[in-house]
Amino acid sequence: MKKRCIFILFFLLLFVSYSFAQDVNLRRISDRLYEILGGRGANGGAYIGDNGVLIIDAKQDEKSVEQVIEEIKKITDKPIKYLVSTHSDGDHISGNRYFPETVTFVASENCRKEFFHPGRSGAPSEWNKPELAPFVPSLTFRDKMDVYLGSKKIEFWYFGVGHTTGDIVIYFPEEKTAFIGDQIFLTRVQLIHSYKGGNSFEHVKTLTKMLETIDAENFCSGHSEITDREGIRNHIAQMKNRQGKVKDLIGEGRNLEEIQSEFEENEARLIESIYNEIKSP
Ligand SMILES: [Zn+2]
Repeated sequence: MKKRCIFILFFLLLFVSYSFAQDVNLRRISDRLYEILGGRGANGGAYIGDNGVLIIDAKQDEKSVEQVIEEIKKITDKPIKYLVSTHSDGDHISGNRYFPETVTFVASENCRKEFFHPGRSGAPSEWNKPELAPFVPSLTFRDKMDVYLGSKKIEFWYFGVGHTTGDIVIYFPEEKTAFIGDQIFLTRVQLIHSYKGGNSFEHVKTLTKMLETIDAENFCSGHSEITDREGIRNHIAQMKNRQGKVKDLIGEGRNLEEIQSEFEENEARLIESIYNEIKSP
């Protein structure tokens, strides 16, 4: 009986949180650069160039995409030229299909490959459906690509494997602001998608390389508030601490379950990834 009540309460809460989900709204960073918040799916970004608009990440459903397009129309009549995906998770790419086909879809080479990667459960990717082909990234790059919207340069950087194998950084030099997708979580435990080839040790290297390469001061991400270089450094240090502790416990001969019990419950999946990475590098 108690179980059933909890079950009903869970779905009620889910329904309430869904129906009262905040509408899409833009948060101004500069006259040209905005964070896209609200709606269903991760936070993204919008940049108003001289001759067109670049959108970062697509949200997750049709209503949210319609709201994104409406919000952009309120600040510019320039067309949406590019939609760039920070990585291949559904909350960032599912909405691609609701953007006009005339938009150029951009991602890293690895991210495009991951569009077709089976899900965590092994189910085939929906992006194999022919009707979705026009919304799969058609423009890809390996390490770096510059995009010009008139006189304005935007830098796309791929620094390596981490959260997935395809995460990128979109850097706006004038604003000293970088959009880094899900390469950082501040209030939740970092996700590392091992099933897609993500790796926590590479994640540390990748974020370190980012700090060494670009002089960004603000970092916007999919599920956290804007942070600074110190925030990224703290995140790297936290991950290194976990890795060190897991290594030590493995050295003491402890098994995975015993090691997980030394951490918070919500860290279990990440600890499993770290454990597997150390056991079979
Ligand atoms: Zn996300």
